[in-house]
Amino acid sequence: MELIVLWDIDHTLIENAGVSKEIYAAAFTGLSGKEPMGPARTEGRTDRLIMRDMFHRNGVAEPDWAAVEEALTAAGAARLSELSRRGTALPGVREILKEASARSAWVSSVLTGNIAANARVKVSAFGLDSLLDLRVGAYGADALQRPDLVAVARERAQRLRGAQGGVPVVIVGDTPRDVEAAIATGSEIIAVASGVHSAEELAAAGAQRVLPDLMDTARVLGILETFAAS
Ligand SMILES: [Mg+2]
Repeated sequence: MELIVLWDIDHTLIENAGVSKEIYAAAFTGLSGKEPMGPARTEGRTDRLIMRDMFHRNGVAEPDWAAVEEALTAAGAARLSELSRRGTALPGVREILKEASARSAWVSSVLTGNIAANARVKVSAFGLDSLLDLRVGAYGADALQRPDLVAVARERAQRLRGAQGGVPVVIVGDTPRDVEAAIATGSEIIAVASGVHSAEELAAAGAQRVLPDLMDTARVLGILETFAAS
C-alpha cells in the first residue's frame, strides 16, 4: 500500500546542538549589521516565520525574503562541518529511514520549517540524505505556516513520484506544531518526545501516537504500515 511519510528534521531526525540557532543569528547579523537581542524562537515554526519574528523583536525592518533566504543559505553552508562535529542523528533514525526508503510504494521525505538548502545541510551532516527523497517534501520557504506545507509535499509527491491523490500522509515530528499540521490537513501523526516537548504535551495537542523516540524500529514501522493499509 502507498504511503507518504514526512519526517520533521530538528529534534526528530537530528540533534543540532545549538548550531541551528547560530545559523539564524548569523543570518540576522549579516543582514542587519547587529547582534540579535535573543535567540531565534523556533519550535516547529517555518524559517520565514522565525526570521520575520526575529526582525520584528529586534526592531529591524524585515528585508525581502530572497535576501533572507540567501543569508540563511550562506550561514547554513558555513556550518556543515560544525554541525557534523557537534550534532548527531538521533537513535534509531538511520534504521527506520532505511526501512522506509526500502519500500518502493512509499514516499519518504521531509516536512520541515528549514529552507531546502539547510534541510539538506542538516541531514547530509549525518549521512541521512541518501535515505530520503529530498526532491519531494516541503520546506520553510514554501509557506509561512507549517500546515500549508502538507499540500506542497503532497503535490510534489504526485508530480515527481506519481503518488495517487488520496494516498495517506503521515507526519513524524516532535512539536505541537507538527501535530497541528497533521490534524489541520487530515494527515496522520506520529509524535516523538525527543525534543523539548513532553509526551503529555504532544498528546494534549492531539497526537494519538506518541513515542519517546524512534529507537524501536519494528514499532515505528508497524504504526506506519497500519496507516498505509488503512
Ligand atoms: Mg522539530
